Amino acid sequence: MDILKERIKEDAKVLDGQVVKVDSFLNHQVDIDLLNEMGKEFKERFKDEKIDKILTAEVSGIAIACIVAQYFKVPMVFARKTESKNLDSDKYESEVYSYTKGRTYKVMVSKRYLKKDKNILIIDDFLANGKAVESLIDIVNKGQANLIGVGVAIEKGFQAGGKTLRKNGIKLESLTIIDSIENGQVRFR
Ligand code: 5GP
Repeated sequence: MDILKERIKEDAKVLDGQVVKVDSFLNHQVDIDLLNEMGKEFKERFKDEKIDKILTAEVSGIAIACIVAQYFKVPMVFARKTESKNLDSDKYESEVYSYTKGRTYKVMVSKRYLKKDKNILIIDDFLANGKAVESLIDIVNKGQANLIGVGVAIEKGFQAGGKTLRKNGIKLESLTIIDSIENGQVRFR
């Protein structure tokens, strides 16, 4: 997706050689016009599928997942990472190792919002090693819902997540794929 590539080239910063910081348009300040175009593109890429719900994880998946949900005219549910009085005790849980945070955390979805046989599209901002998406897939499976596919804004193609999901037969749509980062310069596929 060209406008996303251009925006990454203009505004993204590379941290620690491998982490792409996009806090000016996606992860902190959010450019709604850009996200709107991304939502439209995901709708186009999954247009032949019946989708009942969009699933993401807090925090950084929420903005984009909301816009995607608007295009599909379905609800969006985000997995929570912390216990809260707003979260039912009857819930599906999975564990994720985050390499950006350097620790393991839980993701949790109330059983009320993930029903058997519903068609789920997972949306996230980044796909790197695939652990975040795998935990959401685990939750979909625990709820006996159907995984229709996974859509990510930015796939880091030099990390294993995309390859593993495709190998497992999962329909993965990435709006941009970064093939390498050399001397702070991002190279797209
Ligand atoms: P994975 O579980 O696929 O290794 O990592 C995906 C999650 O880690 C995403 O949900 C995202 O929040 C975060 N992440 C991974 N790589 C990056 C990156 O380069 N930049 C940013 N901003 N987040 C990342």
